[in-house]
Amino acid sequence: MGEQPKAYEPTVIKDGWKAMKTWQPTQEENGWRLTGKCPRCQHETSRLVPTEITTFALEDEEGDMKSGKYEVWCECGETHSGRPDGKAGCGAHWGAEITHPEAEEQSS
Ligand SMILES: [Zn+2]
Ligand SMILES: [Zn+2]
Repeated sequence: MGEQPKAYEPTVIKDGWKAMKTWQPTQEENGWRLTGKCPRCQHETSRLVPTEITTFALEDEEGDMKSGKYEVWCECGETHSGRPDGKAGCGAHWGAEITHPEAEEQSS
């Protein structure tokens, strides 16, 4: 639709983790890579989390989960004007809680 990408600007996205509910995990040698759309620029971005995390259930903040907190930065490959050299993404970042596997009750 010819929309210009937003300029790069470090921006905290409130509730940015909610967008991660649609992100897809893929296993890599060094952990799990979550891939999905940045809630600010809507470009595809991803975040690698360590190997000990095997379950991704992003719950409401009220949810009583044992979880890890991660800071996630947009690392999309698209161009955003004003971005410093060596940086990726649009500057959007947010905190996400990612459930540890031991918090999951296997009920089957
Ligand atoms: Zn972007
Ligand atoms: Zn972005």
